[in-house]
Amino acid sequence: APVVHDAACIFCKIIKGDIPSFKLIETKYTFSFLDIQPTAQGHALIIPKYHGAKLHNIPDEYLTDILPVTKKIAKALGLEKDDVGYNVLQNNGKIAHQEVDHVHFHLIPKRDKETGLI
Ligand code: 5GP
Ligand code: ZN
Repeated sequence: APVVHDAACIFCKIIKGDIPSFKLIETKYTFSFLDIQPTAQGHALIIPKYHGAKLHNIPDEYLTDILPVTKKIAKALGLEKDDVGYNVLQNNGKIAHQEVDHVHFHLIPKRDKETGLI
């Protein structure tokens, strides 16, 4: 599917580099970066390089890298160890606590003594 951007979207601006971010991994279809208001150290966002508000708006090809990239980041953060954990979550719609209308997957580390919001 041809790429779709929204000039007013903050995550589209992050993909283009017009808004700075702490970039993690970029692939053909995916961009990932640290959350600006982390609920735990290393809280990452993994997004398709295609503008759509909700998961069902995103063509399949733009979703293919999401979980492999999420796995790579989890390992890079040391979260494969037995004594820690992590949540992967993705909100769709205001009623589901979505604030940014560009699909994003949260990778939230869960370590001892850290309290996350989720
Ligand atoms: P949501 O509630 O929509 O699932 O999560 C949106 C997330 O995007 C929040 O955790 C918020 O901190 C993060 N966020 C919002 N604006 C920016 C930004 O400009 N840069 C970065 N790195 N993260 C952002
Ligand atoms: Zn966007």
